[in-house]
Amino acid sequence: MKVEFYKHNISVEDKEEVLRVLNSFFLTTGDWTKRFENKFARYVGSNYALGLTSCTNALELALRCYGFGTGDEVITTPMSFIATANAVEYVGAKPVFVDVEETTGNIDASRIESAITKHTKAILPVHLYGQLCDMRAIRLVADRYKLKIIEDAAHCIEGIRDGVRVSELGDIACYSFYATKNITSGEGGAVTTNDATVYNWLFQGRQHGLNKQAADRYTKRYEHYDMAFLGLKCNMSNILAALLLNQIDHIEEFLAKKEAIAKRYDVALSANPYIKIPAILPNSKHARHLYTILVNADVRDYYLHAFQDAGIGVAVNFRPIHLMKYYREKYGYEHNSFPVAEKIGATTISIPLYPSLTDEEINYVIKTINDIVVR
Ligand SMILES: *Cc1c(COP(=O)(O)O)cnc(C)c1O
Repeated sequence: MKVEFYKHNISVEDKEEVLRVLNSFFLTTGDWTKRFENKFARYVGSNYALGLTSCTNALELALRCYGFGTGDEVITTPMSFIATANAVEYVGAKPVFVDVEETTGNIDASRIESAITKHTKAILPVHLYGQLCDMRAIRLVADRYKLKIIEDAAHCIEGIRDGVRVSELGDIACYSFYATKNITSGEGGAVTTNDATVYNWLFQGRQHGLNKQAADRYTKRYEHYDMAFLGLKCNMSNILAALLLNQIDHIEEFLAKKEAIAKRYDVALSANPYIKIPAILPNSKHARHLYTILVNADVRDYYLHAFQDAGIGVAVNFRPIHLMKYYREKYGYEHNSFPVAEKIGATTISIPLYPSLTDEEINYVIKTINDIVVR
């Protein structure tokens, strides 16, 4: 039996929407992008959303929006995809890592304050696997030191914790529609914010800093454009927006299916004494982006291969960022710099979790893993 690590949920309706764009004459950022942005902002409960080409771009654009660069420090987590720290590097600032909570893998809010220096400008938390960080605590520290919060919400468009929604307490939140994310256009991203000034900057910043969009030039009476500042080029096309537009209506239904599968995994896998599962916090809505198990470090790689040999798609989320060659060499990190993140990185395995998993596949994953993990 073969159980793919991930399958997307693109429907006939999504394909038809893309076809409408292709049959129109306007492929780049336009009406579909606008419709996507309005719907997405409404879903996450934010005043403004902007469609971009990736979450990596979203993070960089957010940092540039506040003018962060050389000499500045941004506090973030080593337990994330490299994109999180790379965005800080792109603008010339320094990512300063803070170790994570052992139970959830999220940045440990209680350790943030001790990492703050006079160069610190922002906190960049990641809602790991779909579970919200302690945003109330992070907001308190940020306010005390006048720092911005840029949320990496690549795993978490759905999350709520103790009544706090993703994007609610951050200044800008960044999302990904990469191939394996909860809704996807293969590649794609977005930002949300409640601040009109920030939105206006991001709106121009996603297209070089131009004050007129291609759609304006085309659909309205011609006006000359100007460029007031150096932006990026990362505006979402109508094609990507069309692919995402109707997926937004299905986010809750996808999540309910994944939640049910995750609960079955929880029961069946936590019965195995050699498997641990990251904590799911009470009073929280977990976005269930990834399902990870934790096994003994000395057999983790063996299990990865054994699961694969049995036809089960796997991944490792994540190898700690500070141990990547680039970061080790640039900043001199060594093993044990962030022991909790390193422990997760050495023991974690991600297993298939997506709405279209069948009963047969779920049972096969459970049985195979429990047969293989015996020490
Ligand atoms: C996927 C991911 C990103 C990058 O998203 P892209 O859209 O591929 O740029 C950033 N942060 C985290 C935590 C991710 O998982």
